[in-house]
Amino acid sequence: MFQISFDFGGIEEFDVCLQDPELHARAQASRSVLIQFLTSSRMLRSAAALYAPIVQRFPGAVVTGVTTAGEIAKGEFLRSRIVVIFSFFDTSELQLFSLGCSRGEEEESGRRLAALLQEEARESELKGILLYATTQRMDGAGLLRGMRGLLPDVPVFGAGAASYEYDTESSLVLAGEQLYRDGAAAVVFRGKELKIQARDYLGWEPLSRDMTVTETGGPTWIKTLDGVPAAEVYEKYLGIRNDEHFFKNMLEFPLMIKRADQILARVPVARGQEGSLHLAADVHEGEQVRLAYGNPKHIVITPDHIRQQLDEFRPQGILLFSCYSRQIYLQDAVNLETGAFQQFAPSAGLYTYGEFYGRGDNVQLHNASMVAVAMWEGEPPREQPAPRREEPAAAPGTKQMELTSRLAKFIGVVVEELEQANREMQALMQTDRLTGLHNRGKMEDLLNSAMRCMESGRASISIILLDIDRFKAINDTYGHLCGDAVLRRTAQILKSYTSNRIAAGRWGGEEFLVVLKDAKKGEAVQLSERMRSELETADFGEAGTVTASFGVTSAVQGEEMRQIFKRVDDALYAAKRSGRNRVIEY
Ligand code: GH3
Ligand code: MG
Ligand code: MG
Repeated sequence: MFQISFDFGGIEEFDVCLQDPELHARAQASRSVLIQFLTSSRMLRSAAALYAPIVQRFPGAVVTGVTTAGEIAKGEFLRSRIVVIFSFFDTSELQLFSLGCSRGEEEESGRRLAALLQEEARESELKGILLYATTQRMDGAGLLRGMRGLLPDVPVFGAGAASYEYDTESSLVLAGEQLYRDGAAAVVFRGKELKIQARDYLGWEPLSRDMTVTETGGPTWIKTLDGVPAAEVYEKYLGIRNDEHFFKNMLEFPLMIKRADQILARVPVARGQEGSLHLAADVHEGEQVRLAYGNPKHIVITPDHIRQQLDEFRPQGILLFSCYSRQIYLQDAVNLETGAFQQFAPSAGLYTYGEFYGRGDNVQLHNASMVAVAMWEGEPPREQPAPRREEPAAAPGTKQMELTSRLAKFIGVVVEELEQANREMQALMQTDRLTGLHNRGKMEDLLNSAMRCMESGRASISIILLDIDRFKAINDTYGHLCGDAVLRRTAQILKSYTSNRIAAGRWGGEEFLVVLKDAKKGEAVQLSERMRSELETADFGEAGTVTASFGVTSAVQGEEMRQIFKRVDDALYAAKRSGRNRVIEY
């Protein structure tokens, strides 16, 4: 494999490439050629118009491209240039797929694109997929959702089309001679000798406590966090007001989400009505987010870090997909991180509106990250020594930054400690001291939320109320301590029946409540019968034999909690009246 990039001030300069005898010779000796245009929309349009002369000069070449918020060539940030990356593969094959995809039809388009790719996946030696999409105008995560379950387990990497002025009209994807204002293009890489190593780098660190996304207005739109307008969080914790600097100020503090195995950052791109926040990528209702802090010194990937990963791999070409927020935020320091890759192999790419990264079912649209894709083709292993590299460049840093970063760390640790204390306190508040089971309040909450799930049409719920028979006599005969021991032993037995579907708690005195989710009454009756017989035969030490009476009922759609309790109480009362140590259903 051989990768080379050019950068031009205008498309007419591309003629140099079309005429270059060396490029031509390389193309003729290669199995396949990938030509990527990374530039502004105006210049990408001009590039699309050149498709015919390009394929005439480079027959069979796969031509693709995307608009950027800045280009990267030879490891350096450029602005308003046309970057053209040529990748020549000796033995690997490429295939280009593309389709239109408008807002609202992302999942369907994702399914269609994945179906096209799947045809390819059946062939062997599939090594990676490059994906470009117009994420500024549609929900890129929706596209990925549509592809879920259909993508092969290979690295997927790429970028959302950006634009210089955050202008949704001028973000485009190029596939062959076709330009998409709403669409996606994918290049499939296949080859026995091809190796692709994709990594993502973030660098922002979580700062605040966990907050829950309580309401969304769309896939990339948070209305409320913990029930308050999302933008207020920025004002409350960081003093970032809704003024002309809002966007720039927030870049330093994106939201961070832990989703599956990945840590995702979400950059707010605009403040919406009533303090809502529009993000550059998706977020889900119920997800936990934190504010994150970015210290440039920590964000810039140190060359050492890269060295460790790439020394062994020895790439022949590197593609970089770095978030435009990194470029705005890091300014001059951006070249430190992209430049470090250039020491290993020709490195070129773009500043994006979202980075695609992951594999198989775990491909996500990232924000604020940098995805580096190293490629190599040929016979392993190569026994030459690793080339000497320059000393790692020092990341920028002032005394002030040092202090800020220590304070940020301090806050992060304190928050984590408080969160931990909070979790422990929550657990204590919900636990019955004597038995260690859930207490009455917790059981009420559990039943309440289970009944709400039922309202939305899912599942059935049954409950069991049980009461130890003639417990007063145990207290009176053997003393209160013995009575306590009987309660603890009973709790232990009930606990052994609990699962993620079955919860048990102490309802009060010597009464216990069991809540069964997704269970009809018959199952609850059977469970009661098993509990009753185990209690009856269990060893209660000094107290000897202990029995209990059981009432069982099921919840009815739309009823209130007191109604279900009335029924189960009546059933328990009936069990007592009819001789105790038995199960009665209502
Ligand atoms: P029945 O079969 O009708 O249920 O009779 P019972 O004796 O079990 O019922 P009753 O309600 O008359 O007595 C319950 C007793 O449980 C009274 C109360 O002092 C005792 N009790 C309540 N909480 C505790 C506790 O935490 N520890 C102990 N040892 N006793 C408790
Ligand atoms: Mg009793
Ligand atoms: Mg009682």
